[in-house]
Amino acid sequence: MRIITIVGARPQFIKAAILSRALRGCHEEILIHTGQHFDANMSTVFFDELEISAPKYNLGISGETHGVMTGKMLIAIEEVLVRERPDAVLLYGDTNSTVAGALAAVKLRIPLIHVEAGNRLGTLDNPEEVNRITTDHLSTLLFCASDSAKSFLDREGLGARAYTVGNVMYDAFLYFGKRAAEQKRTPVDYNSMPITMPDRYCYLTCHRAENTSDEALTEIFRAVSSLDYPTIYPVHPRNRERALRIGKSFPKVILIPPVGYLESVRLTGQAERIVTDSGGLQCEAFYAGVPCVTVFHHVVWPETLAGNRNQMAPPVAAEIMKKFTVVPHIDPEYRPFGDGHACQKIVKILNEKLNL
Ligand code: UDP
Repeated sequence: MRIITIVGARPQFIKAAILSRALRGCHEEILIHTGQHFDANMSTVFFDELEISAPKYNLGISGETHGVMTGKMLIAIEEVLVRERPDAVLLYGDTNSTVAGALAAVKLRIPLIHVEAGNRLGTLDNPEEVNRITTDHLSTLLFCASDSAKSFLDREGLGARAYTVGNVMYDAFLYFGKRAAEQKRTPVDYNSMPITMPDRYCYLTCHRAENTSDEALTEIFRAVSSLDYPTIYPVHPRNRERALRIGKSFPKVILIPPVGYLESVRLTGQAERIVTDSGGLQCEAFYAGVPCVTVFHHVVWPETLAGNRNQMAPPVAAEIMKKFTVVPHIDPEYRPFGDGHACQKIVKILNEKLNL
């Protein structure tokens, strides 16, 4: 089967890295990179480090409004699909690249595979939710990371096309985590100088629109500065100028450029705690058994809330600090994201159901 995979953003590179390994050998895969994330820190490092095949098409579309970005991607992806005539299109997650790929493929009647289907926050105020719902309803095969994601699809009448396979990000975390542990690299600062790694630290990531105001970021920095150890924050480009400016008043927050996935996994595993607004990182905190506070009014992965392993807080210092006082309970038997073999399960179902 000839599959076209569409990626564009950091978490999609990680998911593609692990599933492409399982597809290799039994299917031909062509990669389209839409260009949503494009620079060395946000894109190249993932392709190099995780040994992702070079994209055959790089659309170079980024940094505009949702409508312009999605529209341009739709036009460009349709051209590629008409030229390549794949047997299926493979999409990950909930970005503009995902929904543009879904719209292009469905109108050309090309079967659509959606990995990480079914997650719902229950509000259209969240742009990713719009992308998720649209993509799920247009897809031929839906692969869910958890039972709760599948149950949303059941309720929306999509259950017959949906399978719970586990989280491919968990597969990636286990597979690349071994490599990350072997690699002893120290993160570098904005002058490319290795930072002095503290023995204990909080790992912070933050880039959602809701947390990229001066007020919100100041509150988050204030909260993490109350801890008795420093915080390491690889700054998403969206927050760069603001973080560097506000960070001057918070010496306990160590600002560094975005790190590669192996470094992020290592920083996660060795952290005392995690503060984030990232869906991916809240799961990785869960896998690693590190307490997490998600600075957002929803969590994409409600399973992580079990035993207070992940807690939600608004971007208000006092609220976040209150969460730091809660001791989480870890039930080792509770494994809602599968057994680390989601990718093999996906390939098996693809072979059975698409049979191309
Ligand atoms: N991540 C990374 N480098 C960083 C920060 C995060 O590789 O500097 C990884 C992190 O470990 C997780 C993923 O990127 O696997 C999360 O991506 P992001 O926060 O961009 O997206 P989201 O999860 O919110 O969709």
